[in-house]
Amino acid sequence: MNPVKVEEKLFQNRYRVDAGRPHIRILDPALCQAECRTKECTACCPAGCYTLEGNGEVVLITDGCLECGTCRIICTTYRNIDWDYPRGGYGILFKFG
Ligand code: SF4
Ligand code: SF4
Repeated sequence: MNPVKVEEKLFQNRYRVDAGRPHIRILDPALCQAECRTKECTACCPAGCYTLEGNGEVVLITDGCLECGTCRIICTTYRNIDWDYPRGGYGILFKFG
């Protein structure tokens, strides 16, 4: 049996971008850069929405977000994420199979 690649499965999905209205926000990006040493959001997001830049800045791009809620749960120390679902008609469209 061939191993299943997550990237191939994710490619099955479709995503409708709500331009200019990201449904998840980092409340205080400066806090991420200056205070949060572990930056767990950059490691836990299955869609790779959080990127750690070379200068320690954390960049969030919600395109492709799977709405799994992991980032909302994992940012426990600083509670620095404002999380919501996308508006109706936007976001991820899962295709199983
Ligand atoms: S885990 Fe929270 S505080 Fe830390 S970098 Fe990510 S969003 Fe910022
Ligand atoms: S909800 Fe899940 S997929 Fe979306 S940004 Fe957070 S961790 Fe990533």
